[in-house]
Amino acid sequence: MQKGNIGVTTENIFPVIKKFLYSENEIFLREIVSNAVDASQKLKTLASIGEFKGELGDLTVHVTLGKDTITISDRGIGLTAEEIDKYINQIAFSGANDFLEKYKNDANSIIGHFGLGFYSAFMVSKKVEIITKSYKEDAQAVKWTCDGSPEFTLEETEKADRGTDIILYIDDDCKEFLEESRINQMLKKYCSFLPVAIAFGKKKEWKDGKQVETDEDNIINETSPIWTRKPSELKDEDYKKFYSDLYPMSDEPLFWIHLNVDYPFHLTGVLYFPKVKSNIELNKNKIQLYCNQVYVTDSVEGIVPDFLTLLHGVLDSPDIPLNVSRSYLQSDANVKKISTYITKKVADRLQSIFKNDRKQFEEKWNDLKIFIHYGMLTQEDFYNRAKDFALLTDTDDKHFTFDEYKTLIKDNQTDKNDTLVYLYASDKDEQHSYIETAKAKGYNVLLMNGQLDVAVVNMLEQKFEKVRFTRVDSDVISNLIQKEDETKVTLVASQIEALSQIFKSQLPQTNKLQFNVEIKPLGENEAPVVITQSEYMRRMKEMANIQAGMSFYGEMPDMYNVVLNANHTLLKQILADEESNCTAVTPIQEQMDAVNKQRDELKESHKGKKDEEIPTAEKDQLEAFDKQWNELKAKKEEIYAGYAKSNKVIHQLIDLSLLQNGMLKGEALTNFVKRSIDLIQA
Ligand code: ADP
Repeated sequence: MQKGNIGVTTENIFPVIKKFLYSENEIFLREIVSNAVDASQKLKTLASIGEFKGELGDLTVHVTLGKDTITISDRGIGLTAEEIDKYINQIAFSGANDFLEKYKNDANSIIGHFGLGFYSAFMVSKKVEIITKSYKEDAQAVKWTCDGSPEFTLEETEKADRGTDIILYIDDDCKEFLEESRINQMLKKYCSFLPVAIAFGKKKEWKDGKQVETDEDNIINETSPIWTRKPSELKDEDYKKFYSDLYPMSDEPLFWIHLNVDYPFHLTGVLYFPKVKSNIELNKNKIQLYCNQVYVTDSVEGIVPDFLTLLHGVLDSPDIPLNVSRSYLQSDANVKKISTYITKKVADRLQSIFKNDRKQFEEKWNDLKIFIHYGMLTQEDFYNRAKDFALLTDTDDKHFTFDEYKTLIKDNQTDKNDTLVYLYASDKDEQHSYIETAKAKGYNVLLMNGQLDVAVVNMLEQKFEKVRFTRVDSDVISNLIQKEDETKVTLVASQIEALSQIFKSQLPQTNKLQFNVEIKPLGENEAPVVITQSEYMRRMKEMANIQAGMSFYGEMPDMYNVVLNANHTLLKQILADEESNCTAVTPIQEQMDAVNKQRDELKESHKGKKDEEIPTAEKDQLEAFDKQWNELKAKKEEIYAGYAKSNKVIHQLIDLSLLQNGMLKGEALTNFVKRSIDLIQA
């Protein structure tokens, strides 16, 4: 028997392994099983080049659960005593401490860096045995034992068959790994697609109401998953089945892309565009990353472009350096190439579906647009490819490419400044009347109701030249696309003031809502009162909701313009009615004008004087004028308000315009209904 110390330059690697890797200690099984798979694959290779002339036989790797052991057995190349010494006993640890400190949270890095795969067994074991017999002729079987200290023993032993048994004596505080269900779960996660069959126990069957074991091995993996096969051999059903195996709870995917590159890097995989049920629960990190069919991680950030982390599926590449930190990944040349390649592939695939089956593409556009928009927003090169197949959808559900749409609206929607105006709605129901008004004018209205459309509108405005996007309810119809200078109202100042005051006094005033009354000469047949919200303010608020650092806008009240149509008969009537009902305003107005005149004269006499040269009495007088004027003003407004309060038509008009914008609620709505009934009965 040989005794010795494992070649570790640090004091003792085992406490380090246990301590630093504890959170991910379940990967021990992946490491040991994939070593067994590697040993089997190597034997196959040796057989294929004639170096191994014996029978390969059944190469299934067996995982067996004992009372306090897990055994992983293979029939691969096995190890000789010399090989154990070389590959197991000598571990090169240069600069170990520094490295461990840096990557202590990243088990993959540590294992990759040290070639520590086998030693990860000590994360969960108090003792590990290797019983192995090399495939080489007349090889002597050997047994290696180590109890977690740097000391090991190596002795000759008896083993009938070639290959290796790794026996893990599970630690008392890791008993969970002795449960069948836990092993099953780990095998499923890490070993589902390993290229050599893995058996865990026997298949079970229901017999007389009980589960009983059959003689058949329970194979837990699929040795040739679809991404390793040729696309030409696969049918749509195969892709769909693989998808539903991976994500049992998901709807059928929209599209998939089979990736297969040999040069300048190796990459295979299948990416799926999932059907997202609700825009809110977008799931990132559903892509699984494999390295030669061994599961590595489902966090692919840094490896694929951010927008593609929304996709589902599998990527497999031995060229992604997994034994480095995440931040290093982004600067790795291979990873960059892979990322660019995937972006291009995804764009090509979308382009070809668009070209060859536009109908299908349009049908799926609604589900697809979130991915495409995200990509266009975050990646310039994707935007440049996608701009030819990205679609705009109008409120009649017609789809257009960017170019097609421009051609469509060019003649009718160019304003007097030669700016092309894209009209859009964000809610077909809420903005129905505005959409109809715009359509009646021959305008086309886009529907921008996607989760990213606020940002998409901004992006397109920047990308397109001389283009402005404006929501249909952002202004009255004649101003949405201004073709000539605005016509002025013919009312005099006092009439304008009267109308404004009358409506202002009856509009709801809260902290969250602010109304600004404007009077405009709209068409006789247009609505008497229209509520609009400035595109700029609304967009600022919307951006504030999705972007940090803009909370200033988010906290501002919602500001609306209430536009009174001076040309509408009802407004004309209200004005005439006001003139006969508010005669009390006239003497007040005269008083106000008189006060104003006196005040202006006094002010005029102060011109050129310094503040200290003005007598206090005159200063007080000025203040008194202001006070008097304000009191009169309040009195005047009271008269208007008093009149407005009793006028059902004014209330009805205000409520109707609020109702049209979904802003009439609660008590106000109840009152409106009551008043409407009264008016019908009258
Ligand atoms: P790595 O697999 O990264 O080289 P490991 O620590 O997992 O590092 O294994 C060290 C070496 O031990 C392997 O390269 C291989 O030569 C040998 N080895 C491990 N497991 C087996 C096995 N089941 N059969 C044959 N050789 C093995």
